[in-house]
Amino acid sequence: MNVLGRDFVIQPVAVIGAGPFGLSTAAHLQARGIPVRVFGDPMVSWRDSMPAGMLLKSTPAASNLDAPQPGHTLVDYCDAAGIRRLVTDEDIIPVETFIAYGQWFQQKLVPQLEQVRVVSVDRSERGGFQLKLDSGESFTARAVVVATGLSGLSHLPSELSAAAPDGPAPTAPVSHSSQHHDLSRYSGKELIVVGAGQSALETAVLAAEAGAQVRVVARGRGSVDFGAPPWKQPRLRPESPFGRAWSLWALTYYPHPYRRLPAGTRHYLVRRVLGPLGAWWLRDRFEGKVQVTEVDRILKADAADGHPALDVLTHTGAMDRLDADHVIAATGYRVDLAAMDFLGHELRAALAVSRGTPRLGAGYVSSVPGLYFTGLPAAASYGPVMRFVCGTEFASPRLARHLATAHG
Ligand SMILES: Cc1cc2nc3c(=O)[nH]c(=O)nc-3n(C[C@H](O)[C@H](O)[C@H](O)COP(=O)(O)OP(=O)(O)OC[C@H]3O[C@@H](n4cnc5c(N)ncnc54)[C@H](O)[C@@H]3O)c2cc1C
Repeated sequence: MNVLGRDFVIQPVAVIGAGPFGLSTAAHLQARGIPVRVFGDPMVSWRDSMPAGMLLKSTPAASNLDAPQPGHTLVDYCDAAGIRRLVTDEDIIPVETFIAYGQWFQQKLVPQLEQVRVVSVDRSERGGFQLKLDSGESFTARAVVVATGLSGLSHLPSELSAAAPDGPAPTAPVSHSSQHHDLSRYSGKELIVVGAGQSALETAVLAAEAGAQVRVVARGRGSVDFGAPPWKQPRLRPESPFGRAWSLWALTYYPHPYRRLPAGTRHYLVRRVLGPLGAWWLRDRFEGKVQVTEVDRILKADAADGHPALDVLTHTGAMDRLDADHVIAATGYRVDLAAMDFLGHELRAALAVSRGTPRLGAGYVSSVPGLYFTGLPAAASYGPVMRFVCGTEFASPRLARHLATAHG
């Protein structure tokens, strides 16, 4: 205890989350001399909620955790670990390498990380926020940064949930793609993967390569498609970490005005820009090995005899029934403040929201002064780049500057 008494002890900033956004934000806050306590399981979404053997869709240039000082890029990690440098757009990053990079970044820049869960955040009567940890400790923070990423936000569409009355699980008829690390459990089984994004297509390929018979069920004609390889990208458009296009360039490097767009446009762009499209390098592993059934829509699912079946409406207007031993819903993530149950009721009620997501102002601050959101929950305010690791480059220094000015 400080000799001057409890009130004179400097309250830290709490960063909740130890994925790319939490670690990068913490590094920037510390570089400004702000005391920070950081909580979470480092890189856990990448370790537990993505399949082993996965390759990143993002290029090396778009896969750096932003740091305030040089020496902490993916290439720096490759050099430190003595592995081949991943540099060009044709270098594909194995998820295991990316996890090791994140852990290396954490050990170098956020060594004080506390691997405990924050169970509640409420406003403190003495100003700032009162946090409780699952270790039993309780403390006051002057500001809180929510960087909880994908945690708790996996989305199962209602038409599939009837086949999973006790919730999705790898051992139930229906699971969510985030529940799989080892797809070899489906070797010799018939598997349906619902979705057309990179996660669906890569899950399908990895399961097929592990010996499953796999069918992708996707909504819309021509919905299963793959991006162009780097050597076929259009030349006369500006380069961005996601490919050559004016829209991608603007959304990556100039997300500032995004939050001034009408709400409908913002939510639409977050869903559609960089939407469902397989990586260029996945095509050869997919075609001829995974069956594709494109449907108008899935009407409902059931699992009457323990085996899941999907009733679908085909493009000709006919009904069809597709069954399998298991269905994996690769149906993504939805930001929903209600799912962030560690935020106290009063705090959640006080937050200005737009379709379930917090409305953020300059510097990623919410309508509650001192409460910040970064990563996926910030995408509705700052654009689709916030769904990807390269969003740390824009977000982390700006959030840290705002917080240092308002609460430093
Ligand atoms: C299958 C798949 C593939 C992807 N591929 C790519 C890609 O190639 N390139 C790319 O840029 N992006 C990719 N993404 C998106 C990427 O996962 C996210 O951009 C990134 O992980 C978000 O980082 P984050 O730090 O916000 O959250 P996360 O990485 O999800 O980390 C969340 C952190 O919050 C902590 N946490 C949660 N709740 C609490 C709590 N109550 N108390 C304490 N800690 C808590 C967790 O322990 C964890 O440390 C992919 C996503 C998926 C699902």
